[in-house]
This record gives sequence, structure tokens and C-alpha cells, in this order.
Amino acid sequence: MRKRILVTGGSGFLGSHLCEKLLHKGYDVLCVDNFFTGSKQNIAHLLSHPYFELLRHDVTFPLYVEVDEIYNLACPASPIHYQFDPVQTTKTSVVGAINMLGLAKRTKAKILQASTSEVYGDPEVHPQVEEYRGAVNPIGPRACYDEGKRCAETLFFDYQRQHNVDIRVVRIFNTYGPKMHPNDGRVVSNFIVQALQNKPITIYGDGSQTRSFCYVDDLIEGMIAMMENPQGLCGPINLGNPSEFTILELAQKVLQYTHSNSELIYKPLPQDDPMQRKPDITKAKRDLLWEPSIGLEEGLKHTIDYFRTLLQEP
Ligand code: NAD
Ligand code: UDP
Repeated sequence: MRKRILVTGGSGFLGSHLCEKLLHKGYDVLCVDNFFTGSKQNIAHLLSHPYFELLRHDVTFPLYVEVDEIYNLACPASPIHYQFDPVQTTKTSVVGAINMLGLAKRTKAKILQASTSEVYGDPEVHPQVEEYRGAVNPIGPRACYDEGKRCAETLFFDYQRQHNVDIRVVRIFNTYGPKMHPNDGRVVSNFIVQALQNKPITIYGDGSQTRSFCYVDDLIEGMIAMMENPQGLCGPINLGNPSEFTILELAQKVLQYTHSNSELIYKPLPQDDPMQRKPDITKAKRDLLWEPSIGLEEGLKHTIDYFRTLLQEP
């Protein structure tokens, strides 16, 4: 029998790539989304697929379906979107996790949580290893996302201990690629869109803060490897590209690959913006035999091509 897989947040950036990949692998995919940040455009090409199904639903409400595996991605991921309605963000992570874990418990489905490097907050340990417990400000503007995701991890491990649910937790580091929302304020999409429009590139702070950018195709492979790992490892496991760049270096690369003559302008650093971030992926390499293969230059060029086409659309 074809495996039935639920992807929550399936019309978002990562979710739409995941749905596509799972269909390609021959699975039956149910995409659940409330379209808060996701778009029908991202999955329009999948709608006619005989094993793809779309359900408009908010994961903060219970869901009764029969599935074999659940990838729980529902949650806005960019700061401007998750800070727009912070109470709903926490609810999505926490109540959404409870509902999806309840569904996993009833159906005996395996369930994977899309957690985040944000659980490490503004880290004092570099690069970040899974054992590091993080430095998160619980009352700051990022807390709705960070603490919501931390609580979701707690729920996953409690459902495992208390109810024997088969869980997987991946901590995703900054991922970019085609189908990112052009106005979601994340640094890669912002810089590319600004460069293509010859508008000023907005550097927050002095641009010395670092991030490690993973191309979406690599990340999706890592997520599936985690869900399907034969040893039944539950994680948490870091998934990301360990090549670290300053935000200023990223801006320079985007300018170079877009042949843009945008100027750089400096804006205040947002509160609680982490100074550095780089995954230690020793565990993913050893246990999942996974590591990213697409470098920043290649990944940025694919992403630039995507945004160039998008911006030309009427
Ligand atoms: P995204 O905003 O593009 O996708 C999130 C999707 O969830 C959207 O389609 C949105 O409409 C949907 N959604 C939000 N609230 C919902 C709700 N209550 N019910 C149903 N659907 C809801 O973001 P993304 O980059 O694709 O991120 C997907 C997941 O991966 C998120 O959980 C995010 O926290 C995690 N993640 C992403 C990154 C990254 O760099 N992209 C990094 C770390 C973690
Ligand atoms: N950033 C920036 N200019 C922008 C958007 C973001 O300099 O137009 C910075 C932001 O302050 C942060 C980094 O880029 O230091 C990554 O931001 P993003 O929102 O993409 O991800 P996160 O902070 O969640 O890692």
C-alpha cells in the first residue's frame, strides 16, 4: 500500500518542496495549510497529481485523518510574519504540536517536527551542537517563535515517553531557495529582490553577524533521511549547511551574482538578533549519512533565477 503522508504547512516554502519530493518518491500526500504565509501558487503544479490532496485547515484545531507519517511544518518562519500575531504563533507551535501528536498517537503514525536553530537563541556555544541548551530571551519579540518551538520539542519528547509515539525532531538552520516568499523579510529573499530591483540593500547592524545558509534541496533530503532512518533515531538533530558567512559577505555575493549596482544601507539591528549561527552537523553526517552538497554560489544563482522570473510576472 502507498504510504499516506501528512505535511502540515505544506503550501509554504519548505512544505511545498517537501510535498513535491514525497510525491516524486511515490507516496500519497495530504497537504494541510491555513495559507497564513503559504501560497496556492507554491503547490499549483501539484493539484492535478492523482496522489496529492489539499486541505485548508488551521492546526490549532484538531484534525481527524488517517495517515502513516506526519511532517509538522506549520508555523510562520520569518520574523516579520511570526511577530505579526505572536499569540497565534505560539498557539500554532504548541497547540498545533498537541493536535498533531494526538493524531500520531491515535493513528500510530511516525511524526517529524520541523524545529529550528532558534531553540539555541543567541548562542554562547559555537558551532551549535545538539547538547547545547540555548540562550533564549523568554520575553523578547522572538520568544513567541523560539519558546513555542522549544515547548513543541518538549511535547514531542513527552509524547514519546508517555505515549510511545514514534518521533523525529530536526533543528533546521537558515534555509533558502526558490519559493521563498518575496516579502517575508528574510535576508536572502530581501537582498535578492532588492538587488534585482536596483534598490538599496538593507544591512541590519554592521553586517558582521553570521548565518549558515542551506539550499532547500539539501535540507529536504535531510528531513526525509531523518524520517526514514532505519535505526529509528529520534534526534534532535541539526540540519543545515555549516559554511558560515557574515551578512555583509552575503550582500556582496548577491550583488556580484545579480550584477546589480544597488548601494548598501545600514539599519538598526533588531532586538535579540543572534550574532552568530552555524550548525555542528557531526550527528547528521554520522547517523543519517547526510550532508549538504550545494554551495552558496550555486544555490544563490538558482534562487536569483527564481526571483528574476517571479518579478517579471504581471
Ligand atoms: P513558511 O512560512 O513558508 O511556511 C509555513 C507554512 O505553515 C505556511 O504555508 C503557512 O501558511 C502554514 N501555517 C502557519 N500557521 C498555520 C496554522 N496554524 N495551521 C496550518 N498551517 C499554518 O516557512 P518555511 O520556511 O517553509 O518553514 C516551514 C517550517 O520549517 C516552519 O515550522 C519553520 O519554523 C521551520 N524552519 C524553517 C527554517 C527556514 O530557514 N526556512 C529554519 C528553521 C525552521
Ligand atoms: N538581515 C539584514 N537585512 C535584511 C534582513 C535580515 O541584515 O534585509 C539580517 C538579520 O538582522 C539577521 C540575518 O540577516 O541578522 C538573518 O535574518 P533572517 O530574518 O533571514 O533570519 P534569522 O535572523 O531568523 O536567522
